[in-house]
Amino acid sequence: MLKTPAYAAASATSPLAPHTIERREPGPREVLIEILYCGVCHSDIHQARDEWGGSIFPMVPGHEIVGRVARVGAQVTGLQPGQHVGVGCFVDSCRTCPQCTAGEEQHCDFGMSGTYNSYERDANHRFDRSRPTYGGYSTHITVDQDYVLRIPDGLPLDRAAPLLCAGITTYSPLKRFGVTAGHRVAVVGLGGLGHMAVKLAVAMGAEVTVLSSSESKRGDALALGAHHFAATRDPATFETLAKSFDLIVDTVSAAHDYNAYLSLLKFNGAMVLLGIPEPSAVAAGALVMQRRTLTGSLIGGIRETQEMLDFCAAHGIASDIELIGIDQINEAYERMLRADVRYRFVIDIASLRDAA
Ligand code: NAP
Ligand code: ZN
Ligand code: ZN
Repeated sequence: MLKTPAYAAASATSPLAPHTIERREPGPREVLIEILYCGVCHSDIHQARDEWGGSIFPMVPGHEIVGRVARVGAQVTGLQPGQHVGVGCFVDSCRTCPQCTAGEEQHCDFGMSGTYNSYERDANHRFDRSRPTYGGYSTHITVDQDYVLRIPDGLPLDRAAPLLCAGITTYSPLKRFGVTAGHRVAVVGLGGLGHMAVKLAVAMGAEVTVLSSSESKRGDALALGAHHFAATRDPATFETLAKSFDLIVDTVSAAHDYNAYLSLLKFNGAMVLLGIPEPSAVAAGALVMQRRTLTGSLIGGIRETQEMLDFCAAHGIASDIELIGIDQINEAYERMLRADVRYRFVIDIASLRDAA
């Protein structure tokens, strides 16, 4: 076992603090990764504060991991020490259910092994509830080779980290709805997911509108490549833009009125929920009258995540980040709750090694 410095939440009400975990030596099909950078996702806050229920403590969050292969097991193929790799939101799944065999492991019938706040698997690929998973706010992680992504050359490593969650979560629904030139896409909420949705939809050729709560992010939205911007605090926005969009990508992390946004869809348009706030009511009429679709999307499978990384490298896309030391993590959470992040915090894990 390898003693590994980390930052953990001891309970739903405690701030993150230094903690030590144990990582296993890589098994025959596993890879030991030295973590270089880890993005800070709003899901880290939801789970560290047990907002979705069932959180496992102590919790080491972090599922936007970029690092360097340190050691590989004897049967590992195609991954060598020194290579730059990524780990996203899950580290294992059952491997045999219809979703796993279709490359949609995030929807595993038996539940994915989340990178943290979940469990490792036993020899039969079922949860081993004696072994919780711990995420990327740590210096190392041991992962099965089938769940490791390759970071293409040319992507800056710190700015690539958020692609492992924010990137794939927005790429997947844009691809599923066939976004291409001529499509009118709205992105609701300009945070970590939202700013990636803008970059990716623009790269796919769409005409992109950012719908943000206040005017303050207008300049940034246009600089990110969006064609239009509207403030959702202004009620006129919902009149001016009624029936405007083919697709709405909703990344808002707090409860809001879905019906108001549905009214902005064209006939037959679709709204994809990515944010996971507290429940709020949906009016049937908002869907029925213009045959609209309301759906959701959860990250993406390993194959599609690699496709997204390669797409980003080919299009020169990476996240806009604020690099922080691990000791700034609690302040970063507070700032994210105030929607004050431009546009993703990324932890420089060197700060955790130095502190150890
Ligand atoms: P984030 O960086 O904090 O951004 C969320 C954005 O939502 C904010 O920047 C803000 O944008 C808007 N917002 C926040 N509070 C609001 C409020 N009270 N009213 C209106 N708008 C508000 O968060 P993130 O990391 O992008 O994650 C967003 C959500 O997606 C979270 O719920 C997270 O758990 C979820 N998520 C889902 C998946 C998935 O697979 N489905 C993956 C990752 C994350 P403006 O300032 O522009 O209004
Ligand atoms: Zn995430
Ligand atoms: Zn499965």
